Amino acid sequence: MPEPWAWPGSLATERGGMAADAEMELDVIAVGAHPDDVEIACGGTLARLARQGYKVGIVDLTDGEPTPLSPGPDVRLAEAQRAGEVLGVHLRVNLNLPNRRLFDDFEARVALAKVFRRHRPRVVLGFGGKTVMASPDHFQAMQITDAAVFYSRLTKWDEHFDHLPVHTIQNQFGFPISLHRLDLPEAAGAFVTDIGPTLASKLEAIACYETQFPPSKGGIFALVEAMNRYHGLTAGFEAGELFLTYRTVGVDDLMRMACPAPGRS
Ligand SMILES: [Zn+2]
Repeated sequence: MPEPWAWPGSLATERGGMAADAEMELDVIAVGAHPDDVEIACGGTLARLARQGYKVGIVDLTDGEPTPLSPGPDVRLAEAQRAGEVLGVHLRVNLNLPNRRLFDDFEARVALAKVFRRHRPRVVLGFGGKTVMASPDHFQAMQITDAAVFYSRLTKWDEHFDHLPVHTIQNQFGFPISLHRLDLPEAAGAFVTDIGPTLASKLEAIACYETQFPPSKGGIFALVEAMNRYHGLTAGFEAGELFLTYRTVGVDDLMRMACPAPGRS
């Protein structure tokens, strides 16, 4: 199994000496198959959470390479680092699993569960459904994420997890990258986050992937913005990101749920 690669970036260090991020506790971890997945799916939400003061991490299961226009993994990882800085996330980890032949297997599940045990997120965001006619890695990533959330809390199995303590993740939501379909994958429910204040940062983060989105592929920005404007519109926001729920979402404060204050941060 290849060695994982972690980035506690220069921004994180500047923010207050968080260079020793190997054990940093996080509130949220978003898991993608390739660097640029989570930016497209939920970059606005991650940026908003970071601005709201939550500790946010990204796990990329693979380095996403090779791709047609990239000279190699080093460039792609540098792009990912810059994108993470734009979003303001605190940690980015690349597990270096094999791109294009990512499979849901025991080693992949354990590798991701170790990240969860180490950084102890309360919430995990992962792929919410297949992306037929696009990379099959995405669905494998979804299955790996689902399993790793479960493996993170299993007792009496410490030898597989470098004896990291067990950790129970409180909730998990799915992001459907549904750029080309009208229906949604089956789920218990769905909700939209307000990314009005961070849509520009999200698009800027996607633009960091110059090898993936050269001018000839510039249409991605209008596509993503249109999708986020539409999702936001359905909830009364300037822009929004859609998430699927696996359990019924409980509401503590009905008034706050019913009347969110858009765009405060
Ligand atoms: Zn991808």
